[in-house]
Amino acid sequence: MSNDKLTPIPMVDLKEELNLLRKLIIQELTDVLDSGIYILGEKGEKLEREVAHYVGASYAAGVANGTDALELSLQALNIGYGDEVITTPFTFFATAEAIARVGATPVFVDIEEETYNIDPVKVEKALTKKTKGIIVVHLYGQIAKMEEIMDIAKKNDLKVIEDACQALGAEYNGKKAGAIGDIGCFSFFPSKNLGAFGDAGMVTTNQRNLYEQICRLRNHGSKTKYYHSTIGMNSRLDEFQAAILLVKLKYLDIFLHQRKEVARRYTDSFHNLIKSPTILENKAHTFHQYCIELDKRDELVLDLKNNGIASSIYYPVPLHLQAAFDYLNYKAGDLPVAEKAAKRTLALPIYPMLSIQKQMYVISTVLDFLNRKP
Ligand SMILES: *Cc1c(COP(=O)(O)O)cnc(C)c1O
Repeated sequence: MSNDKLTPIPMVDLKEELNLLRKLIIQELTDVLDSGIYILGEKGEKLEREVAHYVGASYAAGVANGTDALELSLQALNIGYGDEVITTPFTFFATAEAIARVGATPVFVDIEEETYNIDPVKVEKALTKKTKGIIVVHLYGQIAKMEEIMDIAKKNDLKVIEDACQALGAEYNGKKAGAIGDIGCFSFFPSKNLGAFGDAGMVTTNQRNLYEQICRLRNHGSKTKYYHSTIGMNSRLDEFQAAILLVKLKYLDIFLHQRKEVARRYTDSFHNLIKSPTILENKAHTFHQYCIELDKRDELVLDLKNNGIASSIYYPVPLHLQAAFDYLNYKAGDLPVAEKAAKRTLALPIYPMLSIQKQMYVISTVLDFLNRKP
């Protein structure tokens, strides 16, 4: 029976954040309107400086979205036809799509059971003469085993791209996601840790040449207007989105703290009744998503829905089994850990402004279900 005062409970409620910041955001947007500069202006540059500083990287370049951030990164690293790029099958499609779009071949390597992130031991086994790079995904906001990955990369002369689209603010051994590999990629899609009110993304790096190359590539391969040194694309972060993100960036650490509090309440309440997220290091997880794992996942989805509570499956089909990658000739059973996770994981509502009352209703609904169907 759904509780009318509390429901519906969505996966994320962006309006609550907007209500908090509305005045500040409207002021910033008015500034941009009046400035007469809407693409590659002051707000974008300021956001690049602030994100670079926040992440602890030397440089940041705004781009149109997280998917372009990945594609431009591969191009900047000269990865293309004939090259293999190792990545995880348990991620959003864009990670591997970017590899295919630059003409390279995605090589999927299975994940770890505890964290759902790529397994460094299996990465080593997948290396060939054609391997040029690794795209590591920090899934759900938890940093992958970067020390091991960076060791493998160093030994084998590979480039490392961090797909940190879900992990802005995640920290591991004193370094933040996006400042560990050669390049970090971020998405500011509205529902991400730092969300715009439209599409936006960013690339971070400590290497000046890569930064300069990304800046050229995002702007038609041009540094000086109407002089084009390479084939690039149009992928820029506009001033309106930059202005919104500048306001929200000031609140990011507070919002991340609130996400962690929500996650802690879930984990405490579920005791060990179901598999809750494993946190490897105290600070490594930003809880972009909170995913539980259970046998009767699909039944729980229905039960939550009947009670007015949203839930989501990230991701129902691992990438090696997606129709778009049929040409790579993977088959069911090839990457068993990812396939099992795709059948058993479920993301519960999590966002900074999720009230305790609403969350307690989610928790009691899940616990009721587990009592009825252990
Ligand atoms: C969101 C996301 C992307 C793509 O970002 P967009 O801004 O939507 O293009 C890529 N990889 C991962 C892991 C993501 O979560």
